[in-house]
Amino acid sequence: MTTRHVQFKSDAKIVPCPKCGNKTHFTIHSDYCAEDCCEVWAVCKCGHHADSDERFEDVMGGVHDDNVIAAISCWNESMAQEA
Ligand SMILES: [Zn+2]
Repeated sequence: MTTRHVQFKSDAKIVPCPKCGNKTHFTIHSDYCAEDCCEVWAVCKCGHHADSDERFEDVMGGVHDDNVIAAISCWNESMAQEA
């Protein structure tokens, strides 16, 4: 499991957390879900996160900038459905 704390500007295009309204402070997680597949997902500062079937899947995983953007994109899609 790899994690990275990220902070976005308040005007970033991020759907606010439905539980606490946060849209600037997240932790990006990367972990293996299979031998040759990683899941990357965003976790709100309150602990809320997208369901596992709405996480970004990547062969190498990791929490570099591209995967941060991908994870937040998945967060946006998931939270837009919850709202
Ligand atoms: Zn939250």
